[in-house]
Amino acid sequence: MEKLDTLQKFSNTFANTKKFPVLFLGHGSPMNAIEENEFVNGFRNLSEHLEMPKAILCISAHWETKGSFVTAMENPRTIHDFGGFPKALYEVQYPAPGQPYLAGGIKNLVNKTQIELDLKWGLDHGAWSVIKHLYPKANVPVVQLSLDYSKKAQDHYSLAKELSVIRQKGVLIIGSGNIVHNLSLVAWDKLNESGYGYDWALEANDKMKSFILDGNHKELINYTAQGKEFQLAIPTPEHFIPLLYVLGMVDKKEPINIFNDKAVAGSLSMTSIKFGS
Ligand code: ZN
Repeated sequence: MEKLDTLQKFSNTFANTKKFPVLFLGHGSPMNAIEENEFVNGFRNLSEHLEMPKAILCISAHWETKGSFVTAMENPRTIHDFGGFPKALYEVQYPAPGQPYLAGGIKNLVNKTQIELDLKWGLDHGAWSVIKHLYPKANVPVVQLSLDYSKKAQDHYSLAKELSVIRQKGVLIIGSGNIVHNLSLVAWDKLNESGYGYDWALEANDKMKSFILDGNHKELINYTAQGKEFQLAIPTPEHFIPLLYVLGMVDKKEPINIFNDKAVAGSLSMTSIKFGS
């Protein structure tokens, strides 16, 4: 009964729409939240071609949990989940509302995974540092889905597939991470050298892009078997897994638009992708 009631509230609020695009956004340094640079311009450019969604579902690299959770509070707090940055970054607030009916819908639409409602998290910088450039007025409700670190890559992809129906409910899905992300190898002295990437980083970035463009999701789900470049690009999975959520939601025939495709500081890439139109 409760499940039916929750689904009813969800479908009353979220009528059928055209299929919304799905985005993977490379978020990089939290400073991108307040700096003016080519990546921020890339996000703004993208937003000019986006319709106003009814809500956003964000899968961020920065919310890892045991089990899957979806934020269900009315007003998620802005979480400053980083250390050692200028005061101005800690002062950023992104007061987008939550959307409890969407959270309830997500919990109940999915059958193969137990998703719990969360009232404690909020919006971490993986979400707000990029979404603020798309919707600076913070007028689109945002819900986050956590990354269950006990799940296998294939499980994340399958969960995303189950959830993909919400693209036709006016929901914009954003995976926020970085496909090449190795913080222990960052070339701090090259931070301001545009496009500086180690050979392995550029190779991994190119190989991932061609798998994406070819619709070869299997190889990406199987990222641990792709050799040394991938191992260096993905030393830990959390910045890569949001890509698997995005891939799980797309239809392989949809248009793919790659932007912000640049390496930063040797061991990171800002490569971002829009699927669908
Ligand atoms: Zn990050």
